[in-house]
Amino acid sequence: MAKRGKIAAILLNKCPRCHEGDMFKTGITGGIYNMHETCPYCDQRFETEPGFFWGAMYIGYGLSGGYMLSSVTLLMFVAGLSVNMAFLVAILGAIVILPINARLARSIWIHIYVGYDKELVDEIEEQKQHAVDA
Ligand SMILES: [Zn+2]
Repeated sequence: MAKRGKIAAILLNKCPRCHEGDMFKTGITGGIYNMHETCPYCDQRFETEPGFFWGAMYIGYGLSGGYMLSSVTLLMFVAGLSVNMAFLVAILGAIVILPINARLARSIWIHIYVGYDKELVDEIEEQKQHAVDA
């Protein structure tokens, strides 16, 4: 059983193969795309081929579109703002969440292509245990 599920691993930007290692070196303030080349925990290569993360743009586009559609709808029909004000507020919000959206898109994209490897995680845990015992 994985310590954390796939959804949690995606949201926390964890490696898709082990759900342990961080994909990004720093927090968002340290650069949006400041990624490790390989997973610090299991050595999974993140950019599996040149240009791999170009596909994440489609995910980012979908996330942004969903955000804009839902926020403008809520701002207009729940908060009662005019169309122009709703778009203004939604666009300002979109700028603020852009870095989160960009990282989430990469995380979702790689989680589509790389699956969780329980045997590998068990093996690494076992090796670590031996290292502690020795
Ligand atoms: Zn990993």
